[in-house]
Amino acid sequence: MRWAVVLVMSMTLGAATVPDLAELNRMIARFAPAELKVNTSALSAGDKQALQKLIEAARVIDDIFLSQRWSGNAGLRARLQEDTSELGKARLHYFDLNKGPWSELDGQIAFLSGVPPRKPLGANFYPEDMSKDEFETWAAKLPAAHQEQARGFFTVIRRGADKELTAVPYSKAYAQDLERAAKLLEEAASLTSNATLKDFLKVRAQAFRTDDYYASDVAWMKLDAPIDVTIGPYETYNDELLGYKAAFEAYVTLRDEQETAKMKNFADHIQEIENNLPLDAKYKNAKLGALAPIRVVNEVLATGDGAHGVRTAAFNLPNDERIVRAMGSKRVMLKNVQEAKFSKILQPIAARVLSAADQKDLSFDSFFTHILAHEMTHGIGPQANVRQSLKELHAAIEEAKADVTGLFMLQYLFDHKLLPAAERPLYTTFLASSFRTLRFGVHEAHGKGMAMQVNYLTDKGAFVAKVDGTFAVDFTKIKGAVRDLVHDLLEVEATGDYARAKKMLDELGVIRPAMARALDKLKDLPTDIEPIRPAS
Ligand code: ZN
Repeated sequence: MRWAVVLVMSMTLGAATVPDLAELNRMIARFAPAELKVNTSALSAGDKQALQKLIEAARVIDDIFLSQRWSGNAGLRARLQEDTSELGKARLHYFDLNKGPWSELDGQIAFLSGVPPRKPLGANFYPEDMSKDEFETWAAKLPAAHQEQARGFFTVIRRGADKELTAVPYSKAYAQDLERAAKLLEEAASLTSNATLKDFLKVRAQAFRTDDYYASDVAWMKLDAPIDVTIGPYETYNDELLGYKAAFEAYVTLRDEQETAKMKNFADHIQEIENNLPLDAKYKNAKLGALAPIRVVNEVLATGDGAHGVRTAAFNLPNDERIVRAMGSKRVMLKNVQEAKFSKILQPIAARVLSAADQKDLSFDSFFTHILAHEMTHGIGPQANVRQSLKELHAAIEEAKADVTGLFMLQYLFDHKLLPAAERPLYTTFLASSFRTLRFGVHEAHGKGMAMQVNYLTDKGAFVAKVDGTFAVDFTKIKGAVRDLVHDLLEVEATGDYARAKKMLDELGVIRPAMARALDKLKDLPTDIEPIRPAS
């Protein structure tokens, strides 16, 4: 009934801009459904029960996030559920993919009528009619402690009956849901026998009631358990107005024991890799500092801010600078999400950019091992003042460095029999995956850095654009070319040579004709995945 009212309104609000069923189905098809595989069989009986509690808690977090994103979300979703027509079902489906009525892949424009044409910049963290100026003028007049609260991660700003702004702590704004989630965490804590998980869940439950997340972030850094869980208010991207407010998210995951062992092997040899980098000895670190911990996990369920639009495959937390200074941060890699993206996106890309023979070398194991090597090699090579000297070029150079130094590292491990050699899959998979990055253009750091690598390796004859439109690796040249590129990028970083970095990116960080023709053929392939949980 209320849905009908919204429909009538849409006629007057410009129905022409709202996608019809066919268009909506095209928008939905950009997310390929993919089942996330998880094996819970190794969990203890207590952990299996704890896992169910954590899944329930994650669902509560999803409700909180939905209301954080827009005040109208809960009501709108309930109305969409009542409409059982094909169009109604497609609208609900796309709403759930975006956690709101705005399409993220299309710059947050509305795909339903009767809602703001674009996602409000301040989401539901502030009154929708509040401007940045009003906030700043109000906040500036507050006593210091209150000012800190107003700008803090864990308060929402509301307008009182007197029209005055006021800061409301999350523990009050979402009191009912947070108390429910806290109880579920405490129940899970009593079911698991792992001490670090027990500790994290208990102190995180307290944080939900007190808004003081410090102790539980420390406990999260120390978490070392078969069940790995990240749950709470974290990233501030949803606050596009001021960037202050943290959105709730949850990742309920299981630790991947096999990859954890692989990481340990890498860590054991990382100083040796540093010592053997193709770089003048005077720039090398004789003794590397402790590397940031990396955890490889498989996602059971992600909710809230961790589950909309393009899906998260890795994250770095916590954001609390006091903890990052004292104990660093932790990187969590979601292996089965990467696997789903590999099979639903990278394989179809490879089918169009590689020859039939080379497609046989495409390998998820190589793909994922290279991602891990990429992450590890961020921690080696020149570190001091690199960001400051390379300024806005730093991200593109550093990401390219991690890509090729990751290749170099794996080649070193192959050559020294420290890892089973898999050269053909490694380089061929890397070549195919470069197109996955290039699809998004060269306007941001990853794409620009990737185009630079592909063109550099092509100019050295290591990548070859063939007349039939496919690409291939020349295995007689690839190792030398990668070594040269590693050398050049590390030297740019060591010397902080901004002009040289700019020249490399300007000349090589571009889409050349052969690449453009290949990218053209990829337009109809899915952009990302829609995770499907196996029926349990
Ligand atoms: Zn990186």
